[in-house]
Amino acid sequence: VNDSYGHGTGDQLIRAVAAGLEVLIPQGAVLARIGGDEFAIAFLSDSENAAALQLAEQILDFLVEPLEIGRRVVVVGASIGIAMSPSGTVGREELVRRSDLAMYKAKEAGRARMTLYDPSMDADREQRNALELDLRIAIESGDLTLAYQPLIDAATHAMTGVEALVRWNRPGHGPVSPELFIPIAETSGLIESLGLFVLRKACETAKQWPELNVSVNVSPGQFRNPAFTDYVRYVLKQTEIEAGRITLEITEGYMIQNPQRTRQSIERLKALGVKVALDDFGSGFSSIGYLRQFGFDRIKIDRSLVMGVNDKRQREMLQATVALARSLDIPVTAEGIETEEQATAMRLFGCDCLQGYMFGKPVASDLITEMLNE
Ligand code: C2E
Ligand code: CA
Ligand code: CA
Ligand code: CA
Repeated sequence: VNDSYGHGTGDQLIRAVAAGLEVLIPQGAVLARIGGDEFAIAFLSDSENAAALQLAEQILDFLVEPLEIGRRVVVVGASIGIAMSPSGTVGREELVRRSDLAMYKAKEAGRARMTLYDPSMDADREQRNALELDLRIAIESGDLTLAYQPLIDAATHAMTGVEALVRWNRPGHGPVSPELFIPIAETSGLIESLGLFVLRKACETAKQWPELNVSVNVSPGQFRNPAFTDYVRYVLKQTEIEAGRITLEITEGYMIQNPQRTRQSIERLKALGVKVALDDFGSGFSSIGYLRQFGFDRIKIDRSLVMGVNDKRQREMLQATVALARSLDIPVTAEGIETEEQATAMRLFGCDCLQGYMFGKPVASDLITEMLNE
């Protein structure tokens, strides 16, 4: 069961979901709560997968409707994994293990999904476990590095800042994309130590470049931690960096789920003196209504939007998105600029800062220093 917890509705919510499931399950089925927000349903059927798929669909349909918990309305979803034991050939524990594995696959695919177990999932899981182990070792032994990508003033084309991007050269495998390992760090409890490493390293390095602002990505798993502000304060103090030169970039996902808490966290971070930017704007939910209240210092337009600059309809969307940010008096960065055409358009629309391969790929800190000395 997935929902936005943290409203004091946790237990009530679980009970409400359980009550709904009880109504849905067939005669003779067993319903068990097997973890905090995990349920298992076991039942006998004489069809192959049909009965299980049908039940899963009914459950997802039931959960689509918002639940009333006390005086709150809560939106809930579920990820469902299904495993079968034809003629009882699969043992009970193995059956639970398989459905659990399928459930994680469903979760990865997005919210409100159901997935049938298949044996290839075991191989996937093993690879993932190996990756996770290597990542853990890399974090502990300081084998991650940071690359820095120039942020360019749209009017003067001067470099005004850099974005720190984490890099991992996995022994025996080569470079692994952060798009792959950040989500793994998120789900395996490694994101905090990874994030702390990145923040500390970026702040230390920033001291070499007094003229630059340094942006650091913060993932939802870090932001969710109530102690996050404390460790930002700690790193700022430890590295003796001027807080106003650090920008933390956060994405929309978590913000939408927890607007209240996000607002508080942003306020506390800004009280430390750091800047807070909204990353990947226009790529997902874009809850325009909130934007002003959050007090972002900057908005970054997602590369996927910038890419559409040549298409008439996408161009209009893009222009409207930038205009919206600007109407809130928030400065706007365009990311993923690869062509002169894109740069010109984004400047025209009102972006004051540009970022992309056209101006510079992410590079080692030494190269940034060289560029500054040119
Ligand atoms: P992001 O924050 O949106 O970072 C921008 C990504 O776009 C980077 O990919 C950058 O290399 C790429 N990029 C920049 N300009 C261009 C361009 O002109 N064309 C193209 N095709 N790509 C461009 P990268 O380094 O692979 O990072 C991917 C994502 O991983 C980041 O997206 C960010 O969400 C995440 N990430 C990277 N480093 C960190 C980190 O230290 N902490 C956290 N939490 N997330 C990170
Ligand atoms: Ca970013
Ligand atoms: Ca981005
Ligand atoms: Ca992105």
